[in-house]
Amino acid sequence: VHPHPSTLHAFQDAARRVPDRTALAYFDGRLSYAETDALSDGIAAHLGDRGFRPGDRAAIMLQNTPHFVLALFGVWKAGGIVVPVNPMYKSAEMTHVLTDAEVTAVICADHTWDGFLRDTAAAAPSVRIALTACERDLQTRDDARVLRGERLGPREGADDLLAVARAHAGRGPAAGTPELTADDIALISYTSGTSGTPKGATNTHGNIAYNAERQRTGLGLPDGATYFALAPLFHITGMVCELASCITGGGTLALAYRFEAGVVLDAFLEHRPAFTVGPSTAFMALMAHPDVSRDHFSSFATLASGGAPLPPALVEKFRAAFGPYIRNGYGLTECTAPCASVPPHLEAPVDKVSGTLAVGVPGPDTVVRIIDDQGQDVPFGEQGEIAVRGPQVVPGYWRRPDATAEAIPDGELRTGDIGFMDTDGWLYVVDRKKDMINASGFKVWPREVEDVLYSHPAVREAAVVGIPDTYRGESVKAYVSLRPGQSPAPAELTAYCKERLAAYKYPREVEVLPELPKTTSGKILRRELRDRG
Ligand code: ATP
Repeated sequence: VHPHPSTLHAFQDAARRVPDRTALAYFDGRLSYAETDALSDGIAAHLGDRGFRPGDRAAIMLQNTPHFVLALFGVWKAGGIVVPVNPMYKSAEMTHVLTDAEVTAVICADHTWDGFLRDTAAAAPSVRIALTACERDLQTRDDARVLRGERLGPREGADDLLAVARAHAGRGPAAGTPELTADDIALISYTSGTSGTPKGATNTHGNIAYNAERQRTGLGLPDGATYFALAPLFHITGMVCELASCITGGGTLALAYRFEAGVVLDAFLEHRPAFTVGPSTAFMALMAHPDVSRDHFSSFATLASGGAPLPPALVEKFRAAFGPYIRNGYGLTECTAPCASVPPHLEAPVDKVSGTLAVGVPGPDTVVRIIDDQGQDVPFGEQGEIAVRGPQVVPGYWRRPDATAEAIPDGELRTGDIGFMDTDGWLYVVDRKKDMINASGFKVWPREVEDVLYSHPAVREAAVVGIPDTYRGESVKAYVSLRPGQSPAPAELTAYCKERLAAYKYPREVEVLPELPKTTSGKILRRELRDRG
């Protein structure tokens, strides 16, 4: 893999090679490589005029829109560091990010600015620049517009993103465009904070360029292939496996605001993408949509699932119903999305004992070890913590040497995930270390129980948690949501698990919910279910 020093270099290279090709497709709106280049120059020029300097931080708080990509390249062209922020964040979470990263510029949607960001930014001393995006500017379809609210006009205290981009298109910062190197920080990606205060992982340009190029060459997609951004771009999976990888190959990135199954299925028919990657929950939601058909997936050369567990039963149900095989991939924010994936010509094996689907094999230049508490390798087939060393591992957390030393000693990332490796080199993720359930001293890994539940035809989503139990210490409880038209009694699901699992593992209680709580990146929130008890 010989990547460019940064995805920005790869983009500028494509803008020279294929200026007229569509870079971004958004409902009815299209931007070519040349237009995307000129407009992002305009944003860089404006930021420079407003005193934004190389190394300064800009928070981008947008859904999957062309504006996200223009803002991203604009900030990088000005030499800045992007802090991608989930647009569903609330004021308190945002305050932490703005102060911790000492953010100078914020870029968000009109309604976010009006909703709370104007007040939040006013209270953060470092913020001096605000750009708001009116997402209607790209001449979208009416039904899509409903999702986004109407244009409200220029916002008080902020400049309009597309207006400044157009006003300065093709200009570049007056102080000149700094040359980015692979070691410069490209992103500060805040963890969701399930383990304490959110920390900012510092993904370098080299981390991103490496993983984007590796995935692109690994997939073997032709130059110019269309990708669909199913995962959010503010999340590392969307940023790297969709945006960066697509642009690196001079491809077209199709976007559809945020995940909504019906809108996404329409977009598949309109854009005919060759590749997409999303969390397994997105595939579950697409499968459950009343209009879904094989046609929707007929353009795909590859579908990939990443960032969350992939139940083997889902892969089989999906293939039987729609044709494509869903490829698993394993990664974390700290390794800039994937560090292991399923090579295109192979299918992931299922471990005979636990029923777990392999996540893939480590990429080239990547060393994955399974270690014990002392950091020593455990034998093949035995469980331990997954540790990763490679060109995609971040150098550390933003201004947190303590957390860096703990999680990434000597450059090797301790993932906090328990896994094992078989003698053929396939990696399996058992579960998160901290999600283990201790039932009468027996270890229960929620994943294994969830995989069994997913094999039941009525189950759409499943999550297993430990709840306090005076007798056992903790006992196993399952939450499920059901496929349309299904209504098995909870006792039937308990019995189903009991037949297939050791006595200490099957759920003592099953509760049916209309839908399970998820992060906006689509991961089921076990933590929230644990709190329900
Ligand atoms: P936080 O670390 O703050 O809780 P998060 O979990 O959302 O936030 P990410 O970096 O997005 O952080 O998620 C990485 C985690 O997702 C991994 O550590 C692993 O537990 C899980 N994961 C990712 N891919 C897979 C996969 N293919 N199979 C099983 N689990 C996976």
